[in-house]
Amino acid sequence: MTIAPAGPQTGSALIIDDAQLIGGDWVPAAGGQTIDVVNPATGEVLGRVPRGTAADVDVAVRAAEAAFPAWRDTNATARGALLYRWAQLVDDNVAELDALESQEVGRPHWGPPPMSRILTFVAGQADKVQGTTLPTYTPDALGLTLREPYGVVGAIIPWNAPAPMFVTDVGPAIAAGNTIVIKPAEDAPLTALALARLALEAGIPPGVVNVVTGYGHEAGAAVAAHPRIRRMSFTGSPQTGSLVMAACAENLTPLHLELGGKSPQVILADADLDAAVPAIATGITLNTGQICAAGSRVVVERSIHAEVVQRLAERMTQVTVGPWHEQVNMGPLINARQHERVLEYVRIGQEEGADLVLGGGRPAGDRYERGFFVEPTLFDNVDPAMRIHREEIFGPVLGVTPVDDADEALAVANGTDYGLVASVWTRDVGKAVRFSRGLQAGQVAVNAALGAGVIGGPFGGYKRSGFGRTMGADAVLDYTQVKTVSLRGTGN
Ligand code: NAD
Repeated sequence: MTIAPAGPQTGSALIIDDAQLIGGDWVPAAGGQTIDVVNPATGEVLGRVPRGTAADVDVAVRAAEAAFPAWRDTNATARGALLYRWAQLVDDNVAELDALESQEVGRPHWGPPPMSRILTFVAGQADKVQGTTLPTYTPDALGLTLREPYGVVGAIIPWNAPAPMFVTDVGPAIAAGNTIVIKPAEDAPLTALALARLALEAGIPPGVVNVVTGYGHEAGAAVAAHPRIRRMSFTGSPQTGSLVMAACAENLTPLHLELGGKSPQVILADADLDAAVPAIATGITLNTGQICAAGSRVVVERSIHAEVVQRLAERMTQVTVGPWHEQVNMGPLINARQHERVLEYVRIGQEEGADLVLGGGRPAGDRYERGFFVEPTLFDNVDPAMRIHREEIFGPVLGVTPVDDADEALAVANGTDYGLVASVWTRDVGKAVRFSRGLQAGQVAVNAALGAGVIGGPFGGYKRSGFGRTMGADAVLDYTQVKTVSLRGTGN
């Protein structure tokens, strides 16, 4: 894949400056204001998007309502075919989408983008939404269930992986026959707009996909609180998730929450360290640690503790840092607030008494001055009571906690409020089975850091990592509600 160099503007033909997508039209915000989208590696303005507010959300909901009946009644195979066509266009434009996401998130290319395969996966489910037939008390009656779309659904997504997040919400929602109003994050809204443009180009009718850009407390809060949005999906931090849930409670809107994580990487004494160490180092530095599933806590048996710390430090030292287009391993953090937050956690970790082994600051050199760069950071002897063990940092900060045995490892691994992803590294099948059952997380990986590459695995959290699942066999089904129909003949 060739990647164009970063410039002051995206230069992407997929982006219309200062325009959001409502009812098939590219329009500015009702209030006329804009938000600058900034390249986090340089601080330069990449583009401008409308600062949508409640007024824009309301217009978008009306547009989605108007588009709903025809989209619902489009036969499911035709809906699936339009999603396949969208997936094809995403593939045709993959280099541009990848570069756009790199520019706004600040991440180096991290492998083939998953958008078209996500869309292909859900496109195949569109015409496999089936009800059931039910037994009846008398032979002159029939009983059955229908699976019907909700109507207009809402979604709010974060900035850390805007393109996959966009299709993960929009794909299943519209495959099921819903129409959608989605608000991307203010820090990274461009890829979402580009994907929506390709959806229109694929022939998905105007008003089926509506994108309102804007700040969370304005446009986001208006989506969550809109009384005619019939189902909500939120991906982001637990703090905002609570606010969205409270807003949904007002209208009794059903809600799906994909929240944060503090994922453990348990390394047992018999683990293959040649496999574990590189995978864990990559897992915490990929996207500068800004991945909900990032394994940020290493829980290691004491007999191999010193070796693991030494090898992790060696590996993390090799991670190259810089602007995304320089083919480095790790880019900057997303913005100044996130930069300050990560550095603050480094200070907290030191004050709490953890040992700083590596990193902890801004890398030295002129090229790092203007961007939100931070070094890969490793703490050792992190006590389970420390904040850096319990709280999500969302940066390239890895903590190591030594434990006496597998029992303590399991207790420490489960000892936070989060439950998104957990890994165990062992050659012992018995221990692998025990940890697979015992780890409290929506996803458990054995001998893999971010999962072993499963197709169609449902994704979601336990505990404060959220509830509901995306991307499994039920991805489209989850965007339907069940109606029971009973039917009796008359007059014969
Ligand atoms: P965030 O909660 O600050 O923002 C997420 C989205 O919510 C943004 O679009 C934002 O504009 C919007 N928002 C902010 N305030 C709002 C409000 N009052 N009402 C409605 N919407 C509002 O999160 P973030 O910093 O963008 O993302 C990082 C978080 O997302 C981390 O906690 C990470 O773990 C989590 N995340 C989870 C998953 C998952 O699948 N579980 C995936 C990616 C990221």
